[in-house]
Amino acid sequence: MIVDLRSDTVTKPTPGMLEAMWSAKVGDDVFGEDEAINELEAKAAKIFGMEAGIFCPSGTMTNQIAIKCFTQPLDELIADQTAHVYRYEGGGIAFNSSVSTRLLNGPRGVITAEMIEPEINAENVHYPRTSLVVLENTVNRGGGKCYTLEEIKPIAALCKAKGLKLHLDGARIFNALIKTGDSAEEYGKYFNGISVCLSKGLGAPVGSVFLADKETIKYARRLRKVFGGGMRQAGFLAAAGSYALDHHVQRLSIDHAHAQILADALAQCPMVTSVMPPETNLVLFDTVEPATVMLQKLAEHGIKALSTAHAHRIRFVLHLDVHPEQVEYVVKVIASL
Ligand SMILES: *Cc1c(COP(=O)(O)O)cnc(C)c1O
Repeated sequence: MIVDLRSDTVTKPTPGMLEAMWSAKVGDDVFGEDEAINELEAKAAKIFGMEAGIFCPSGTMTNQIAIKCFTQPLDELIADQTAHVYRYEGGGIAFNSSVSTRLLNGPRGVITAEMIEPEINAENVHYPRTSLVVLENTVNRGGGKCYTLEEIKPIAALCKAKGLKLHLDGARIFNALIKTGDSAEEYGKYFNGISVCLSKGLGAPVGSVFLADKETIKYARRLRKVFGGGMRQAGFLAAAGSYALDHHVQRLSIDHAHAQILADALAQCPMVTSVMPPETNLVLFDTVEPATVMLQKLAEHGIKALSTAHAHRIRFVLHLDVHPEQVEYVVKVIASL
């Protein structure tokens, strides 16, 4: 048996999703004529209580467009040191936006208004102008740790008071919403921009949506063209995203339950020193020997996973192509190590 726990990006379209893609009404999206894309953008915006949205090829592009929309060259943004926008987008903040980054060190990547406030630069020619805060929910490098809306509200209030924009890297926002029970629609009240990935746990093959007010999205369309992301009959992909929003959100709780089962099994494994308590679909754990040793053993049993963050850490990611019998199998393999 092969079990792929490397990432929630490895999912393949389900038969229902393929059918939705097959029957998508498409057109030239650069002309604004792709019905399936227009529908997806409107649907996603409505879910999050935002005015408008733009479909992009990747979450990296939605984040980079957001940062460009919300900053000017020579500005600075504030994010946690685990942030995807900083660590895993190839240095794009500096390259695309000419913006510097002030890093915080929140527990499991979760930052607070108290941590942010002293890092906002005073008006002074020596300092970059702080103009943006980026939160990530769930926190990837924090092992899928969630922010609740109650934790976000004081950050949003601080940003408003200080004239900063607030962007959410919501690559796994639905995992957070399923876990916390918070209302997606309320999110629109607190963020200036939201990136939502369709190709992670939601299971679409490609794509991410950036949500914001109409003016910002108008500018984002210009930026998407500049970044080379103006696609034509991409409604076939957007239809997969719409299908995922309709059918693959509630089932994320299954992935979360699976993550807990694997975490419990790992806690008993002599090769493992510690397991980060999972909150959603990610399980991070540390190994006695270098991660490569355990990864090799897992690979011998057809279980694929990746090392992350440091040499003794492994990440398991649950998603819709990991079925209950595969989870059972992984538990058995772990127990045999
Ligand atoms: C995957 C991911 C993204 C976007 O990645 P793409 O591969 O560019 O779609 C953004 N933020 C986080 C936290 C992610 O995990």
